[in-house]
Amino acid sequence: MLLRRLSETPGPSGFEDQVRHVLIEELRPHARRIYTDALGNLFVETGPEQGGPRVMLAAHMDEVALMIVRIDDEGTLRFRAIGGIDERVLVSKAVRVGPAGLPGVIGSKAVHLQKPEERKRPVAIEDLYIDIGAKDADQASGRVHVGDYAVFATEYEQIGQGKAKGKAFDDRVGCAVLAELAKRSFQLPTTFVFTVQEEIGLRGAGPAAYRVNPDLAFVIEGTLCFDVPDARDEDSVTIQGRGPAISLLDRATIPPQSLIRWMAEVADAREIPYQWRRSGAGGNDAGAIHLTRRGIPTGAISVPVRYIHSPAQIVDLADYENTIALTEALLRDLEDHPDRLDGLRLANRVYPPAAPGSGPSPGAPPHPGRPGPEPPPASGKGPEGNKTAAEEEGEQEP
Ligand SMILES: [Zn+2]
Repeated sequence: MLLRRLSETPGPSGFEDQVRHVLIEELRPHARRIYTDALGNLFVETGPEQGGPRVMLAAHMDEVALMIVRIDDEGTLRFRAIGGIDERVLVSKAVRVGPAGLPGVIGSKAVHLQKPEERKRPVAIEDLYIDIGAKDADQASGRVHVGDYAVFATEYEQIGQGKAKGKAFDDRVGCAVLAELAKRSFQLPTTFVFTVQEEIGLRGAGPAAYRVNPDLAFVIEGTLCFDVPDARDEDSVTIQGRGPAISLLDRATIPPQSLIRWMAEVADAREIPYQWRRSGAGGNDAGAIHLTRRGIPTGAISVPVRYIHSPAQIVDLADYENTIALTEALLRDLEDHPDRLDGLRLANRVYPPAAPGSGPSPGAPPHPGRPGPEPPPASGKGPEGNKTAAEEEGEQEP
């Protein structure tokens, strides 16, 4: 199963090679074109090259992890976090170090040896170490190097009623959704983008969106879910089992209202369950994508992930399947209605000066429901969709 394979593959920010390899292997038979860029983003193009709105779907390959920064004389390894990790979740966890997957355990002072005040506060990351069973620095440095990474050693397993436990569901669950969709054919120029370095500041997504230059983008994520005992309903952000979560806003993005409404309408029409992602906290690649070039309308659809950014996470597999269903439904709707973007009023508009006597009275706001004609094609947003970076070569960005 692809979700299992993606979950168990190591891929910290900056070390996405193995995840990229899995995806290339999986999607090569289905792609029209598949390539990477200088940062390591992976692009999988499917469908026709032209005709209809150009759509970009993005999911990030990287996961939060640890980086080895020193080897102690005793053979233990000191580390720092790659991405946002709560140090309270680290103590006594099993990890795999480096591309070879060397087994290790995160060590700290046993509770018996801690002073009363030490027991009250979490152990600082600087005071933790990874024990790989080496007896001294020489033995350790034969197997590990400063700069190697460590990931949580969590096996993927189906648990309970239709749930799965694993690591890195943020955002391998999104990678798996994209991979499933890339295998279905759409009569739209579609680019599936597997981005790098989301967890340390949305770094891959901006350059990727610049290259694809889509008319519309969707980010598929694993997101916060705190639907556990004692949490207030409105603090849960999302609730597992209620379907994909459509983002209303987060720290980095407010999607266009018309886009949000259309996503919900498509879900309603096809009877796909969905929920609102109810929090302004967190952010994802949409934050970088929607600010690229002249601005790109970008929506986000997420699978709720309990215990996100921790060693063992839980997803509901029906939420995962319904995220595939909703995203597919949106693409099918665009296929059936190539003019949908105009209806959403997401395309660039030009409002010519009103003829004297026929327009609104001076000082009145422009009529919101009456767009002007399409802009001249020289704007780069013709009816055939945006140009690719290659097509725009030599064209100056204002
Ligand atoms: Zn994420």
